[in-house]
Amino acid sequence: MKPLIVGSAWGFVFLVTLVVVRTLMHTPPAAIDAEPVDIMLDEAGLAQRLSQSIQFRTVSFQSLMHKDRTQFTGFIEWVHTNFSLVHESLEYRQLNDTMLYRWLGSDASLKPILVTGHYDVVPVIPGSESQWQQPPFSGAIVDGLIWGRGALDDKSGVLGILEAVTYLLEAGHQPIRTVYLSFGHDEEIGGPEGAAAVAAYLKDQGVQLAWSLDEGSFIFDGVIAGVDKLVAAINIAEKGSITLDVVATADGGHSSMPPKHSAVTDLARAITKLEENLVPGGLEGLSADMFDTISPHMPFIPKLLFANQWLFGGLINSQLSAAPSTNAMLRTTTAPTMLSGSVKTNVLPIEAVATVNFRIHPRDSMDSVEAHVTDLVASDSISVRRRGGNNASAVSDWRAPGFGIIAQSMREIHGDIPVAPGLMIAGSDSRHYGKVADNAYRFNPIRLTPELMTGFHGTNEHISIKDYAQGVRGYIQIIQNGSLN
Ligand SMILES: [Zn+2]
Repeated sequence: MKPLIVGSAWGFVFLVTLVVVRTLMHTPPAAIDAEPVDIMLDEAGLAQRLSQSIQFRTVSFQSLMHKDRTQFTGFIEWVHTNFSLVHESLEYRQLNDTMLYRWLGSDASLKPILVTGHYDVVPVIPGSESQWQQPPFSGAIVDGLIWGRGALDDKSGVLGILEAVTYLLEAGHQPIRTVYLSFGHDEEIGGPEGAAAVAAYLKDQGVQLAWSLDEGSFIFDGVIAGVDKLVAAINIAEKGSITLDVVATADGGHSSMPPKHSAVTDLARAITKLEENLVPGGLEGLSADMFDTISPHMPFIPKLLFANQWLFGGLINSQLSAAPSTNAMLRTTTAPTMLSGSVKTNVLPIEAVATVNFRIHPRDSMDSVEAHVTDLVASDSISVRRRGGNNASAVSDWRAPGFGIIAQSMREIHGDIPVAPGLMIAGSDSRHYGKVADNAYRFNPIRLTPELMTGFHGTNEHISIKDYAQGVRGYIQIIQNGSLN
């Protein structure tokens, strides 16, 4: 054999060995010692109360005109009566229809924490009622499942927190660190009078939180391909949003004598250009941390890729970019949503408009996204107009003690499961709470499967009694550990 071929054969063997060794070394960190806890709960009672809470139609409609306020005040009264130990033991304040409790800790020098959820829900899509296996506001309990709007988003969060604090009060728990609880009434329309009012109130009182825990991600079961363990994903940031109008202008006229290019064809080219030139992204920062934590638990082949990003980085990026759910983790997304042109079939438009919604990754900003779009498409006949939006949240520290406390609490309930940082691609009340918290985490300690996901803002939202009870146990550990450390 010629020396060159021998050399490259040895090189290949070396490369394969290196790749395999790196894969074998890509293992989860040693099991973290977490004493499993055993918490006895009256699961039938838990289910009954969650069921009753779902029967309040606390619906946030896009227009406040449609709001049935009696459902909200009824729910508040119901909480005061059914969680009387919480209501009598903690300080209470109501900001509009949002409930705020303070459980005073013994050490005033420690920054408080906030545990929060929202009790408003989205409407049931008109006409979809018949597709529900149980009526959406029935709170029906059938074969171990609790049915209805809010079962996952987010009455199980609100009730779970109330049940947890009740349990801790009955057990004589005394917090060292002050704990705030808030239950928002308008999260589904952006939280302007709920979470925003609470954040303003806390700021006014000079309160800066060590951390806050709001709804967000879940304990994934079968959601991440190839990972057969439960994975707790705690979102440490949420994306922003900007909507831009791409506007093409032309002279107009009669459609019988069209010019070579019209506003519509110019616009079509511009939109195609946006689709072909996505806002740059990739596996770095928060997204890289997430996959670094989860990939040691993957099967051999994907693990091999993630263990050797120096070699397969390009392949990983293109694979992740191909699927909408993972693409959204890597970059600011581009979604043309609305189009308009001429008002009549035989009239050439003088203006054609495409509305494009971008969900902003924390690495980008409204300005940088607008600049990206303008650079790509702006010309004599095409301009870009901003409709409105908000930047992504700050990225919270997932190596800070608060994250560790939540992670530890999950291991005490579920054993040695991976706990990874994640990115919230929807919005939450934490956009307000984050302004008064050193770190804002977004996580429901509740198991979620792919089948359950369609319930969010969709049909057949439900939760099993077992999963809900485990969620309550999760909140008990989080609040107990968080208030002592
Ligand atoms: Zn929600």
